[in-house]
Amino acid sequence: MENCIFCKIANKEIPSNLVYEDEYTVAFNDLSPQAPTHVLVIPKKHYASLNELDDEKLMSALLTAVKNVVTKLGITEYRTVINTGESAGQTVFHLHIHILSGRPLKWPPG
Ligand code: AMP
Ligand code: ZN
Repeated sequence: MENCIFCKIANKEIPSNLVYEDEYTVAFNDLSPQAPTHVLVIPKKHYASLNELDDEKLMSALLTAVKNVVTKLGITEYRTVINTGESAGQTVFHLHIHILSGRPLKWPPG
């Protein structure tokens, strides 16, 4: 989608620190990390949020990508987050899964 920063990252139109890629997804380091490890996993295809995601194969591919990323990074304790909608903290409207690790994370998150 035009003017979508994450589409541009997926299409390699703008540089990012890619940590993982497969047929359906890419993962890259968050520009403003909230933990020592903060990776974003995105579908290559544009979906504004989880609400628009209607492809079960891609749903499964996204969790597979999360597992491949943590395996690649050698981490076994981490938090995954999908912010959906402004009031939930979503600021980039291309679906993404946060992977956070490397410091104690409080629950509930607030
Ligand atoms: P969210 O608030 O859940 O929509 O998360 C968006 C995330 O994208 C934030 O953690 C930002 O720091 C991150 N972000 C925004 N632009 C970029 C970029 N160009 N490269 C990497 N991460 C980005
Ligand atoms: Zn996009």
